[in-house]
Amino acid sequence: MIVDRADFPLLANHPELHYLDSAATSQKPRAVLDALLDYYRCDNANPHRGAYTLSARATERYHDARARVARFIGVRDMDRVIFTRGTTESLNLVATAWGYANVTAGDEIVITGMEHHANFVPWQQLARSVGAKLRICGLTADGRIDLDQFQALVGPNTNVAAFGHVSNALGTINPIAELSAIARRVGALVVCDGAQAAPHLPLDIDHLDVDFYAFSGHKMLGPMGCGVLVGKREILEQMPPYQTGGDMIEYVADERSTWNVLPHKFEAGTPNVGDAVGLAAACEYLDGIGMAKVREHERTLTASASERLSAIPGVRVYGPPAADRSGVVSFTVDGIHPHDLATILDEGQVCVRAGHHCAQPLMRRLDIPATARASFYIYNTEADVDALIRGVERAREVFG
Ligand code: PMP
Repeated sequence: MIVDRADFPLLANHPELHYLDSAATSQKPRAVLDALLDYYRCDNANPHRGAYTLSARATERYHDARARVARFIGVRDMDRVIFTRGTTESLNLVATAWGYANVTAGDEIVITGMEHHANFVPWQQLARSVGAKLRICGLTADGRIDLDQFQALVGPNTNVAAFGHVSNALGTINPIAELSAIARRVGALVVCDGAQAAPHLPLDIDHLDVDFYAFSGHKMLGPMGCGVLVGKREILEQMPPYQTGGDMIEYVADERSTWNVLPHKFEAGTPNVGDAVGLAAACEYLDGIGMAKVREHERTLTASASERLSAIPGVRVYGPPAADRSGVVSFTVDGIHPHDLATILDEGQVCVRAGHHCAQPLMRRLDIPATARASFYIYNTEADVDALIRGVERAREVFG
């Protein structure tokens, strides 16, 4: 264990629980809950607008939160860090604001067959609206992006390449440097869905060759309702806003308006200061452990769970070897529907997700309706793996 379970009030309140659904959302350490409460107790006001001291304090808390998050993800120019509601909103922002201004009929958008719906449907809908072509890269038998096919799909008409850093359904860690290098050769916009990477891998976004990088705070110990979009400054400055209204304007004339500077241009309306403060506290907490240690801890648990599950007759684990996966173990058991499996696991206080994991195109490619997914984080231990294995063995007894 690399953290004290007592640091996580929900886990302390439910000592019997084996929480193996952190890929869906993580539990929150006391430090994050305290930061949230502290903000609302001591500094809450609408930022940016008030001339009074309390409002200035709220503005400062929001500014400091952005600076802390930027430091955590390796971004020096913090104005490139835009707070959103989460990965879904971040990706919709890019597909809508950049997409409608830049993608036209005949253009091609390349995505992959393992994307979460949040990095699939916005591109699909954009392509349908403007008459562009959506090209979907296939996968290898062990659940990786087929790089040869990706290379073949990216051509002179490609103006967007969008791919996940880590698959939520399989855990595959994708070679994003190679993927972006392929996209760069044709000058395509590179968009990376980092929802499953930011919580689990050391991240240095300034040194990734991507135009946009999106993630959610709630999967990395932060509160729900706050995520991030990092964009290249010159692209953000040149593209139109996503939403319009308060805070994002510079001047509103009767006929037209001009836009505020970054990051405000993309943060219309009252910002979610409290959750940003909570996310900053989460970054502080993770930095205190060290992301290399987080990765190593999860790699160990994932390898153990994969090996022990694979040794059970009828169990199939999906995706590449554990060394190339984040803390996700997606599996099926012959003769037991993943939903039934999850129900039996729940009887043993083991929380896993069962279903298509918001990746129906991937399930079609794997030719299965669903998997059960156990996902690990910093508060999990081998005891959680033991409980998972006990539950799967019990399910096999129940279903004969
Ligand atoms: N992409 C991936 C890979 C994800 O795992 C998720 C969350 N399941 C999302 C996007 C969407 O994130 P959110 O629901 O927080 O917007």
